Amino acid sequence: MAFVVQILSLQPMPKKVRVRFAPSPTGGLHLGGVRTVLYNYLFAKHHGGDFIVRIEDTDQTRFVPGAEQYIFDCLQWCGLIPDESPVHGGAYGPYRQSERKEIYRQFAEQLVKNENAYYAFDTPEELEQMRNNFKTEQNPSPQYDIHVREKMKNSLTLAADEVQKLLADGARHVIRIKMPQGETVSFTDMIRGEISNETSLVDDKVLLKADGMPTYHLAVVVDDYLMKITHAFRGEEWLPSAPVHVLLWKYLFGLENMPQWAHLPLILGPGGKLSKRDGAKYGFPVFAMNWTDPKTNELTEGFREKGFLPEAFVNLLALLGWNEGTEQELYTKEELIQKFSIDRVHKGGAKFDYEKAKWFNHEWIKKLTVDSLQLTVKEILIAKGMEISDDAVLTKVIGLVKDRCTLLPDFYEQAGFFFQTPTQWDVDAAKPKWNEDKKKFFEEFALKLAGIGNWELGELENVFKILATEKNIKPGELQLPLRIMLVGGKFGPPVFQIAEILGQSETVFRINKALEVF
Ligand code: GLU
Repeated sequence: MAFVVQILSLQPMPKKVRVRFAPSPTGGLHLGGVRTVLYNYLFAKHHGGDFIVRIEDTDQTRFVPGAEQYIFDCLQWCGLIPDESPVHGGAYGPYRQSERKEIYRQFAEQLVKNENAYYAFDTPEELEQMRNNFKTEQNPSPQYDIHVREKMKNSLTLAADEVQKLLADGARHVIRIKMPQGETVSFTDMIRGEISNETSLVDDKVLLKADGMPTYHLAVVVDDYLMKITHAFRGEEWLPSAPVHVLLWKYLFGLENMPQWAHLPLILGPGGKLSKRDGAKYGFPVFAMNWTDPKTNELTEGFREKGFLPEAFVNLLALLGWNEGTEQELYTKEELIQKFSIDRVHKGGAKFDYEKAKWFNHEWIKKLTVDSLQLTVKEILIAKGMEISDDAVLTKVIGLVKDRCTLLPDFYEQAGFFFQTPTQWDVDAAKPKWNEDKKKFFEEFALKLAGIGNWELGELENVFKILATEKNIKPGELQLPLRIMLVGGKFGPPVFQIAEILGQSETVFRINKALEVF
């Protein structure tokens, strides 16, 4: 007989919304992971709820030192601060599954007692043998499931006293779920609608491992229950596990308070599912921040180090899979909180476009005030060896160049010359129209500048124009060499604004210095 678990429509929200991001600390946090955090966060905050971070570190073999700290650093950088976590505390801790080990066994034992799970004593060799014995062309990698379990060494096949003896002797064993035969498990996914699975097609997953640690399947259900999670957002790669989780909810808690699930679409790169390798291949970051694999020392570049603003990163991630249905593309975090709704999250994979990501950053650099960029830009320039002795000058410089910057390191390209006298000049660019008259003009111009009493834009332009007219040279032909003298190359904001900020003695000094090489 088929049993159907159905939550027919999305439930209203009578209780306080509690969502969780539940990463396994196994490496860098990739775009998709941060987007999962973001959707959790936005949903929680939109509904005035709590955002919880739970560290799912029960797989000791996959433990990577530094990965947990890295996750919290990323959240900090993005401004997605948890209400509860191993770092932030909370009433439902501990929030690291490895510290909750004692909790899980009783639930696993309860499942065995109620015949929804069983002890399995098979050794790794026996499992290997099973895979060889049951392998067919149609089924090249047989699983421990309804068809196989009868032939294996477990509490379903062994006599009760034998099982008791093995347990008493401390024989290595796991606990597996006993997937029922011929049932349909259905649930309503907030993004995908009704999802149904035939139980006979799902294997008897291990719930408690031989080392006493739960697997993800048991731990996620127990912890979502104990932590009163109301909505569970996770990547769509977890869809195949959902029937196991729904069954565990039924067996352990009678489905009461089961969270509503939402399986988020994949983020696609140029070659399908966006992978860490794509970054290296296509030259864009895939992780939120730089991540160095402690085993291989391999560095994977992050959006932060590439020069993305957290505001832009959060904004672009929000739109990778969600839109409000309007033309608006730039959103602050507060606006996202206000407008985010799960029914506008798409089912289909979201394509990541690096050019578009850069566009977001450029727009955000333009949008942010000089004040809010000041510290970040100062750090970038100092890291490049510049000396910033006057913050007021930096403020003016940022205001002048920010609209020309796409990534944060562009501030160095666009503004480094304000703080460092050029040592090289793009003389070739000025050469075609360079002559003795122009040289004389600049010698005289430098002298005139040195005599100006009131160093301000209008005055500089005046001196320049009057002298050009006197010398009968078109001002347009003088501006390029002047720019190259002050900047080193043919770029940057309006040249007199540059001179105004550089100040009198530095401007005069640069013109004279450049004249030596011109
Ligand atoms: N630990 C799982 C992961 O790292 C979490 C999946 C879930 O949110 O249920 O993807």
